[in-house]
Amino acid sequence: MAKPAIKVHIQHHGNMMCDYKWLLVNAEWLASKSNPNPPSTWGPCPTHTVVVDHPDGRLLFDTTCPRDWQQHWKNAAAQNWFPYEDVAPEQYFEERLKQLKLDPSDFKYVALSHLHLDHAGNLRTFRNTDIRILVHQKEYQGAISIPGEVQGFHLKRDYMVDGLRWVQLTEDTEIMEGVRLFEAPGHTWGTMCLMVDLPNTGTIIFTSDAAYMRESYGPPPVGAAIVWDSLGWLNSVERIRSFANMRDATIIFGHDPKQIKEIRLAPEAFYD
Ligand SMILES: [Zn+2]
Repeated sequence: MAKPAIKVHIQHHGNMMCDYKWLLVNAEWLASKSNPNPPSTWGPCPTHTVVVDHPDGRLLFDTTCPRDWQQHWKNAAAQNWFPYEDVAPEQYFEERLKQLKLDPSDFKYVALSHLHLDHAGNLRTFRNTDIRILVHQKEYQGAISIPGEVQGFHLKRDYMVDGLRWVQLTEDTEIMEGVRLFEAPGHTWGTMCLMVDLPNTGTIIFTSDAAYMRESYGPPPVGAAIVWDSLGWLNSVERIRSFANMRDATIIFGHDPKQIKEIRLAPEAFYD
């Protein structure tokens, strides 16, 4: 049977800035007796979203950071650790959608890899619509249970808003033919990856923060400072690898400053 005519648009929304030591435990970056003042590892941390055009409906994977981050991230340490300030006006979430001639109401599903503030930052846009907001049940339950308004990168005002039509997933799920969300916990309670089977490209896996960058993936996987469950995170990298090997998949990492320059980006280009 012919595969459904699916198209995938990767939208780059500019970069946060951060110390890469958060994302990669790399011994060369640490001070030592022979190298007490290692060079700075402060640099751009790209953020992207994915639009999947499918004959049965359109899906958005993640919602990146909000344009009003300085106000919205008030009281969140991310303001200082991961400032979203290396971004051109045309890279903001709502501008990118316009470039694809899309309105938020054009989506059937919004899938969240997890609820961190650089992934759920524009979820508010989908209030009071019929759009299904897909999230892993463990992520949702964990995120609404944090004490206070903010814990680490979970910010309640991103996701505890009225008028969102949540669907909580409890296992790997095929959303539409050839479009799957699979469990990859560790970075957070219920992180999920997106896997799409395209007619020409083959399979693409979007890891989100289950693998921040190519160096995180390895082999061997290289762990990070921002991980809720380190052993779970390592197991999830191997889970991604087994899917990828089975399908000879292309892997798009969550925050890879090198890879973002090498891939086809919206609105000029897409994968099909
Ligand atoms: Zn992230």
